Amino acid sequence: MSLIIETANYEVLMHKYNLTLLLGLGLIVLLLLALFVTVWLLRRSRKSKSTASNSKLTSSLRDEKLKSSIIINAIDDGVVLIDDQRTIQLFNPGAANIVGWKAEDAVGLNWQAIFKFVNEKGEPVNSAEDPVETLFQTKKSVRDNSANLLMKSGNIIAVSLVISPILDNDQRVTGAVSVFRDVSEERQAEQQRGEFISTASHEMRTPVAAIEGYLELSLNDKVSTVDSRARNYLEKAHTSTQHLGKLFQDLLTSAKVEDGRLTSHPDVVEFGAFLEQLTEELRFAAEKKGLAVEFTFGTPQTIDATHTAEKLIRPLYYTYADPDRVREAITNLFDNAVKYTDKGKITLGLVGNEQVVQFYVRDTGPGIPAEDIPHLFQKFYRVDSSATRTIGGTGLGLFICRKIVELYGGRIWVESVLGQGSTFYINLPRLNTLRAEELKAKATKNTTLPQINSLAESP
Ligand code: ADP
Repeated sequence: MSLIIETANYEVLMHKYNLTLLLGLGLIVLLLLALFVTVWLLRRSRKSKSTASNSKLTSSLRDEKLKSSIIINAIDDGVVLIDDQRTIQLFNPGAANIVGWKAEDAVGLNWQAIFKFVNEKGEPVNSAEDPVETLFQTKKSVRDNSANLLMKSGNIIAVSLVISPILDNDQRVTGAVSVFRDVSEERQAEQQRGEFISTASHEMRTPVAAIEGYLELSLNDKVSTVDSRARNYLEKAHTSTQHLGKLFQDLLTSAKVEDGRLTSHPDVVEFGAFLEQLTEELRFAAEKKGLAVEFTFGTPQTIDATHTAEKLIRPLYYTYADPDRVREAITNLFDNAVKYTDKGKITLGLVGNEQVVQFYVRDTGPGIPAEDIPHLFQKFYRVDSSATRTIGGTGLGLFICRKIVELYGGRIWVESVLGQGSTFYINLPRLNTLRAEELKAKATKNTTLPQINSLAESP
C-alpha cells in the first residue's frame, strides 16, 4: 500500500518537474524570439532611415547644382571660371552677351583669346596690367573699374571687373572666378559730367580772377582811396573771392586728374634743394599765423653726435616727376597744416633709402579721428569734427594730392594723434645719381625723356 502511495507521489513530482522545465524552456524561447524581433525591427528602421537620408542627400545635391546653374545663368553680369592654365571652364550667358562669344565656343579657350584688355587708345595693356596675371602673381582678388575690352567686332567697351582666386589647401591658385559688367554708359556719363565741371569751373574762374584783381587794386593805397569801413568790406570780399577762385581751381584740377588731362612734364628733381627752397616760399603764410616752420633733413638718429650739421654730407635724393605738380601737392599739405593748426610748428622733412624718397609735413594741430583716415583722400571728403567744421574748404585738396602722387608711382598717407597733430607722408620712387645724371644729360641734349613706367626698374 505504501509502495503504491510512494509511486503515485513520485509521478506527481515528475509531472510537476516536467511542467516547470517546459515552462522555463518556453520562456527562454519567447525571450529569444522577442530579442530577434527587436533586433530585426531595429535593423529595418535603421536601413530605411539611411536609405531615406541617402536619397535626400542625392536630391539635395541635385537641387544645389540646379540652383547654382539657375543663378549663374540668370545673372546679367558676366561670370567666367578659369583654371590654373587660364583655360575657360565656365562662361555664363551674361558673359556671352557682353563679349559676343557663345559659351560653347568660349569654353576650352585660353582666357586671353577672348579677354583682350586695352588702354583708352586701344593699345594692348602689358602683362603687368593684365588682371588675371596680377591675380596669379599676388594670389589676391583684383578689382578694376577702369578696364577696357577689345571686342571681336573691333569696338572697345568699358568694363568693371572683380576676379577672385580659388586656392587649394596649400594656398596655391588653382583657378579664378571673374565677375564683370559693361559700364560703357556709366563711364560716358561720368566723362560728360567731368567735362561739364571742367568747362564750368574754367569759365567761372576767369571772371572770379578779374574780380579778385579789381578788389586787390581797390585795396592798394597807391591806386585807390577807400575809407576804413569800406576797406573792411573789401577785405572780406577779397578773402571770399580768393576761396571761390581756389574752389574753381580745385574743381578744374580734379576734373583733369580724373580724365587724364592733367598736364605733366616730368623732370629730374633733387628733393633736398627743392624742398628747402619751397619751405622758404611757404614759410610766410605760417609765420603770419604765429606758427614756427622748420625744415629737417634725415631723422635725428641719422645725425652722428660727433658731427655738426654743416659737416654732414647730404645724400642727393633724386626723383623723376613734374616739379610743378609736386609743388602743388606739398603746398596743399602745407596749406592744410597752416589752416588747421592754431599754435605750435609745422615741420617739412625729407628722408629716404635706396628705393624711396620720403617727405612729410608735420603739424601740431587738432589731429584727425581714426575713423576718418581711410576716407581722407577721397573726393569731397571733409572731417565733421568741431575742430575743423568751421574752417572753410572743398574736400578736394587731398584727393588732388593723391592723384598727383599716383601719377609718379608714389604713395601718400597720414598718421595722426587726436589733440597732438598729424603727419602727411609722400613716398616717391628714388632715382639713383647715375641714372639722374644720364637723364639730365639727355634733357640738355633735348632728346625725348622716358615715361614714368619705364623708370620703375631703375631706382
Ligand atoms: P579741405 O579743402 O576741406 O581742406 P582737403 O581734401 O585738403 O580738403 O582735406 C580734407 C579734410 O581733411 C579736411 O576737411 C580736414 O577735415 C582734414 N584735414 C586735412 N589736413 C588736415 C590737418 N593737417 N589737420 C587736421 N585735419 C586735416
